[in-house]
Amino acid sequence: MAQSDIVTKNRNVPLDKVRNIGIIAHIDAGKTTTTERILYYTGKSYKIGDIDEGTTQMDWMAQERERGITIVSAATTTFWTLNDPNGAVSNDSYRVNIIDTPGHVDFTAEVERSLRVLDGGITVLDAEEKVQSQTETVWRQADKYKVPRIIFVNKMDKLGADFEGTIEAIKERLGAHPAIMAYPIGSEQTFKGIVLLLEKKALVWGGDQKGETFEESQIPEDLKEKVEEYRAKLVEQICETDDGLLEKFLGGEEPAINELKKAIRRAVISYKLVPIYAGSSLRNKGVQPVLDAVINFLPSPVDLPPVEGIDPKTNQTITREPKNEAPFAALAFKIQTDPHVGRLTYTRIYSGVLKPGVELYNSTRAKTERVGRLLLMHANKREEVDQAFAGEIVAVVGLKETTTGDTLCSQAEPVILESIKFPEPVISLAIEPKTKADQEKMGFALSKLADEDPTFRIKSNPETGQTIVSGMGELHLEIIVDRMKREFSVDAITGAPQVAYKETIKKDGKGEGKYIRQTGGRGQYGHCFVRVEPKGRGEGNEFISEIKGGAIPNEFIPAIEKGIKEAEENGVLAGFPLVDVKVAVYDGTYHDVDSSEIAFKIAGSMALQAAAKQANLVLLEPIMKVEVTTPEEFLGEVIGDLSSKRAQILGTETRSHLRVVLALVPLAELSGYTTKLRSLTQGRASPYVEPSHYAEVPRNIAEAIVTKRTTAS
Ligand code: GDP
Repeated sequence: MAQSDIVTKNRNVPLDKVRNIGIIAHIDAGKTTTTERILYYTGKSYKIGDIDEGTTQMDWMAQERERGITIVSAATTTFWTLNDPNGAVSNDSYRVNIIDTPGHVDFTAEVERSLRVLDGGITVLDAEEKVQSQTETVWRQADKYKVPRIIFVNKMDKLGADFEGTIEAIKERLGAHPAIMAYPIGSEQTFKGIVLLLEKKALVWGGDQKGETFEESQIPEDLKEKVEEYRAKLVEQICETDDGLLEKFLGGEEPAINELKKAIRRAVISYKLVPIYAGSSLRNKGVQPVLDAVINFLPSPVDLPPVEGIDPKTNQTITREPKNEAPFAALAFKIQTDPHVGRLTYTRIYSGVLKPGVELYNSTRAKTERVGRLLLMHANKREEVDQAFAGEIVAVVGLKETTTGDTLCSQAEPVILESIKFPEPVISLAIEPKTKADQEKMGFALSKLADEDPTFRIKSNPETGQTIVSGMGELHLEIIVDRMKREFSVDAITGAPQVAYKETIKKDGKGEGKYIRQTGGRGQYGHCFVRVEPKGRGEGNEFISEIKGGAIPNEFIPAIEKGIKEAEENGVLAGFPLVDVKVAVYDGTYHDVDSSEIAFKIAGSMALQAAAKQANLVLLEPIMKVEVTTPEEFLGEVIGDLSSKRAQILGTETRSHLRVVLALVPLAELSGYTTKLRSLTQGRASPYVEPSHYAEVPRNIAEAIVTKRTTAS
């Protein structure tokens, strides 16, 4: 990244003139192209400098470009001037912060963390593919994080583009209430622009190559009727969201366009309507109206309720107003190692002002951190700033211990904001450097990569010296290995991917752990009884002490807990982590002289193992949601093949001329599935796989896995 020579004017933009948005899409729908166009048009209007043709501003990691997918969210600041005579907000210059979100579900962590800090989103759809499986997944995630959205129906120029069909899919598959704001003029090769329905204005692109300018023209004859029909529907739909407007409407009066737009703005922010636009990013058509819509309809930080958090001193829920005068509160949502400046912590500031050099309190970790420099990122340039305000997204240099999901706040008025929850890895593999000399470098590279990505884990086995990495899918791990080579010059050899099994218990059990050594001098004495109980799937592990009357002195309880945790991590049945277990230590004995933390730790570990063995131990395996899109003629074969993989077929659907099979399949059965499917269907079917849940492994299969594990080690 080149140090930027731009200085963002008008730094302290009023908060209502800020939009923090993300572009959300299924892979290949055109998110990257759309983002590029947005950066081009906004950059143009602010003379940030020309964007090199053929290079993508957001995707500055080499292998992202090669693979054509966006892996890492980068936050980019741009400006857009609204010039709308009938706008919902004032005509002015607005700061638009774009937080890049990946489409691939192997990178759920990236999606979740960006959604957490967005105020609004543009969902990009492919007008031919319509609503795709990842769109649905990400849409639901955006619902979870309450992100108001607009939709851009992209690729209107593509063969098979189907605007109306896409609208139907939006209703059916996303359950959204689309408000069609723009109707396409032409389709496929004849697509040339849109009619803005409220204004009854036709906008046609084609005057210049990059689509910077467009012309207002007559609504084509053959569209006039459609425009009237859709416009009438739209007006009614808007009025229905607002009592005042509805009264006018029922009284036979049509509200003014700016009143209607203000109502849309309110309806979008309360998740009642989703405005729909259409265009073709690749052909440079229809993008500017989407930018206007971002300003008109998506919320600014002040339009949303104040952020909630917990006061660590009182455990009470407290809020932070989006104001510069409020106590400082921010969420770290992304760690990135920059080759030039080092560790960057991307933070969303919810309240207060941040300045270089100040001390911040990381309330999640109860640690103090000193802020180094503050950087605003402009695509592949960066700008150092001397303060950052409420509502802004800024990269902080110099934080050492803060990781993704941590809250940074003022020491005097601490708050812990709700953290970002990440799914557990489902797949792992053994990794070793090609040469012994690379051992240390590999350790360094892996720890840096894990620092950036909370769904990527490293574990080393001190006995075998083997390093095991785990992540969200084969592609996820492949990319990590790739990055190690490119960014850290470490060549690695990897083993076959292994399914990340887990262990759990199905009933209650009790166990005793006794560690007593008396071999002259000071001995060792630790002794405890524990009870284990199953918890709900995904609820995690819990530890409580029921020791009363000092059967074990309080000072040893943490040691017992530590021993239990270690035993849980190492597993009891076959070395897989033991999960969803509640453990209570309820009795024990101690020795005045010989008892020590280490002895109680060992006793805790022994007691846990003994109790778990009494509690019907079982193996859990990751189950994947699989969607196979196939031509009708291969449907039987696809289903037959899935059935042989312990699949639970959920059903089939028809999507345009193709059939879609929906199934739940154990990950263990899916190795090499893409290749197999290709050869089965002459390359015409494509699978889509994402983690769904963990389920118990059938007994006979579990036995084989346990035997293999225990004889191997
Ligand atoms: P992403 O994976 O969502 O970031 O999608 P990209 O922006 O990389 O686009 C995926 C592919 O679709 C690329 O080959 C683009 O050139 C192409 N594409 C993007 N926008 C359009 C469009 O408006 N029309 C057509 N026909 N192709 C497009």
